Amino acid sequence: MAYSPLVRELIDAFRCLPGVGPKSAQRMTFALLQRDRNGAQRLARALEGAAEGVGECEQCRDLTEAPICALCRSDQRNHAVLCLVENPADIQALEEATDYRGLYFVLKGRLSPLDGIGPAELGLEVLATRFAQGVVREIILATNPTVEGEATAQYVAEMARDANIQVSRIAHGVPLGGDLEYVDSGTLSHAFAGRTHYG
Ligand SMILES: [Zn+2]
Repeated sequence: MAYSPLVRELIDAFRCLPGVGPKSAQRMTFALLQRDRNGAQRLARALEGAAEGVGECEQCRDLTEAPICALCRSDQRNHAVLCLVENPADIQALEEATDYRGLYFVLKGRLSPLDGIGPAELGLEVLATRFAQGVVREIILATNPTVEGEATAQYVAEMARDANIQVSRIAHGVPLGGDLEYVDSGTLSHAFAGRTHYG
């Protein structure tokens, strides 16, 4: 089918979203253009604003437009405890499911040498700097229960032990191969509460 250039461009642009194939890209494009021009304008503004304005927290690597995110700045949180997660969405899941009051560190991925993801890509030198500052006393490893998530947990556990920091790992019950952000909050809460000394 011959779409006009701007329609074609919009359909192609939607394909950058995870899980969006040609059919759904087409559906979203027509929905916006036929029925919701205001929604389309708003989406365009939000995308542009976020793409330009959102960076990462210098301390925890969570998404934020400030140099240091609100959690890391908060004096209501325990700065001696860090929880290591793979994705920013995991923070949201843990905040909703648990009464955790410490801080986080976001890897934005997991060790995967075959895909070229090593310690540098995960910001582990930033984490090492934090360990060296001497404020952090404990780290809870909440990476996903996948082979790569486990390898990442082991790597960070070693770093932490070298810095004399106490290490625990969230309990199983999170389904093997599962993503933390999709686990129901009861299971997640249980896994978090049942974390065990690691290594
Ligand atoms: Zn932060």
